[in-house]
Amino acid sequence: MIIAVTNQKGGVGKTTTTLNISAALAFMGKSTLLVDTDPQGHSTVSCVMDPFSIKKSLYDVLVKGEERIENVILKSTIPGLDVAISKISMAKLEPSLLGEIDGHYRLKDTLEDVKKKYNFILIDTPPTLGLITLNSLVAADKILIPIQSSYLSLEGTDDLLETIEKVKKVTNIGLEIIGVVITMHDKRTNISKDAVDRIKKAFGRKVFRTVISKSVKLEESPAYKESIFTFAPYSVGAKQYKNLAEEIVKRAKVKKNRTS
Ligand code: ATP
Ligand code: MG
Repeated sequence: MIIAVTNQKGGVGKTTTTLNISAALAFMGKSTLLVDTDPQGHSTVSCVMDPFSIKKSLYDVLVKGEERIENVILKSTIPGLDVAISKISMAKLEPSLLGEIDGHYRLKDTLEDVKKKYNFILIDTPPTLGLITLNSLVAADKILIPIQSSYLSLEGTDDLLETIEKVKKVTNIGLEIIGVVITMHDKRTNISKDAVDRIKKAFGRKVFRTVISKSVKLEESPAYKESIFTFAPYSVGAKQYKNLAEEIVKRAKVKKNRTS
């Protein structure tokens, strides 16, 4: 199953969620690949020991077609997790693919080569609704939307939903939102509480039961190239991301059984 972690709003917890969910799935024994499509490369630098050990990155696979995806997949510092690495060159992807007739399909076509090898492929996306995110939505089976529990948290979600509908209509009819996860929650503040109410009102049962709290440990762990599960295994963040991964696996199973 391919899950794109998407919200074009910046800094809402896409990368933190992608990393820790991937780590949890790998820990559960699921073979897992994290695909970093963000030119910022935050997922890559947060869990790959030496991304500069290879010159190429996903850009060379998607644009030039002269590199196989296998050659830009590295073992991460997170046990059991592989990563297709991003570098700043990914910023050239959008201008390079603009006007290419199959510009939206490059990631989908590329992932066909490795899809069978992994139980889960998680795609970390940049904070835009541009061609990189479109490639991710076209390639994905499911979308996971992190929303920060803050003022203006729902700003932009209408545009995201509209884009999802367009992708469904034009190319990926089976695309579904697997769920919305509320991130960086601070139960002490009214702003956070109001945000949770508004998110639940807007997305109903799509909202995961698990809410991710604001936590310094979650903020610190990438600097040590660790997931929350090894960095602070008994922290609230570790418990919450484990619970979220379990909810995701459950939702993934329900849908699979229904179609089989
Ligand atoms: P971008 O849009 O730039 O890719 P993003 O949506 O991937 O951002 P993150 O990078 O995951 O967001 O998070 C933004 C910042 O908030 C980071 O500094 C991260 O460490 C921090 N952060 C994420 N989740 C939490 C949390 N639950 N508690 C505290 N800090 C968090
Ligand atoms: Mg990010």
